[in-house]
Amino acid sequence: MKSENLYASFGISDALYAYCSEILNGLQPRFARIDAVAEENQMKVLRAMQQNRVDAACFSGSTGYGYDDVGRDTLERVYAAAFHTEAALVRPQLVCGTHALSVALGANLLPGDELLSPVGKPYDTLEEVIGIRESPCSLKEYGVTYRQVELLPDGGFDWDGIRAAIGARTKLVTIQRSKGYAMRPTLSVARIGELIAFCKRCKPDILCMVDNCYGEFVEPLEPSDVGADMVVGSLIKNPGGGLAPIGGYICGTKPCVDRCAYRLSAPGLGQEVGASLNVKTAMYQGFFMAPVTVAGALKGAVFAARLYESLGFRVLPDGTEPRYDIIQAVELGSAERLVAFCEGIQAAAPVDSYVRPVPAPMPGYDSDVIMAAGAFVQGSSIELSADGPLRPPYSVYFQGGLTWYHAKLGVMLSLQKLLDCGGAVLP
Ligand SMILES: *Cc1c(COP(=O)(O)O)cnc(C)c1O
Repeated sequence: MKSENLYASFGISDALYAYCSEILNGLQPRFARIDAVAEENQMKVLRAMQQNRVDAACFSGSTGYGYDDVGRDTLERVYAAAFHTEAALVRPQLVCGTHALSVALGANLLPGDELLSPVGKPYDTLEEVIGIRESPCSLKEYGVTYRQVELLPDGGFDWDGIRAAIGARTKLVTIQRSKGYAMRPTLSVARIGELIAFCKRCKPDILCMVDNCYGEFVEPLEPSDVGADMVVGSLIKNPGGGLAPIGGYICGTKPCVDRCAYRLSAPGLGQEVGASLNVKTAMYQGFFMAPVTVAGALKGAVFAARLYESLGFRVLPDGTEPRYDIIQAVELGSAERLVAFCEGIQAAAPVDSYVRPVPAPMPGYDSDVIMAAGAFVQGSSIELSADGPLRPPYSVYFQGGLTWYHAKLGVMLSLQKLLDCGGAVLP
């Protein structure tokens, strides 16, 4: 009789396959809700493309100055329509998420202004942008000061602290949607909306920017639907759909986005210049695919959470709570398990599957770090990937998967590697 275990040829044992099938049966209602959100977002993106009359002419490349690049300008209108903003800047010249955030901050803060983060410490790479860690060309060097209000121990907003921190010089509030690699809850769009409304009550002309990385299309609404003046992210993550080979985006009010365009190119030039070379088809197609890609990644994250939780590992978020980004943390408790997990993710990859990830030193970390990724786009974390520092509690951060089936194989193979080295046992 033919085995039902489609994954046997990848080394998945029949016992593991059967165990995973049982876990997956219990997740069907959850997966149906993820699909429903994807369907809503797919229609939102499709409508944005139709309303802006995307056609084959939009895909032809431009060179040099990039004057009259209709495809580039149309793509920006598509993003603006999907995010319900007045304007958008979507460019290969925004080289990554950090760059897009740096442009958005640098363009809208002037010497003497103060930047406020009411949600604790921002993503690591922003520390140098802001000047929390000294760096040439930081906002601090240009005379922009920074304040931070921590989240309360229960993850709530410190309303009194935020009110007290907003002063005459407070110009811009930066709100990070995803927990990133911090141990705090990811913010739902609804909570971001409450926070923005509060800040604007404290100071009506304050600008609110949301670092939207890893959050796009996880919910039917985006932070721009609840009052954000700018939402900013990377096309090497969710909205690139795994197809965009480069890029970042800033969607927001026209005054904010105009300033971003002047900062990115030059005052007076703004959005008029910037050749898009030959990346537009991938940017359009990636954005079109992104709602479904994000759904696949979310299913992989929920599956990993339930599976590892069922074996007694601590997982964040847990297998039942609502999700507002695509990142899954699993506390593995030993270096050996962390390495095995990453080996499994790597072995499941379509690219570089034969490579064995090994822990290595990384700038900015006080311990070795292991990373697993076999991606079409270098460093892409909407593609299946995992990493973690080799120090207690040996947590792995796992995200992505261009298709649900690939994410499923990756999660199963990670556990198979743990079973093989005795790091876990099936009940
Ligand atoms: C990834 C990420 C960034 C930075 O994006 P890069 O493309 O890696 O520069 C910023 N903030 C958050 C929350 C992120 O997840």
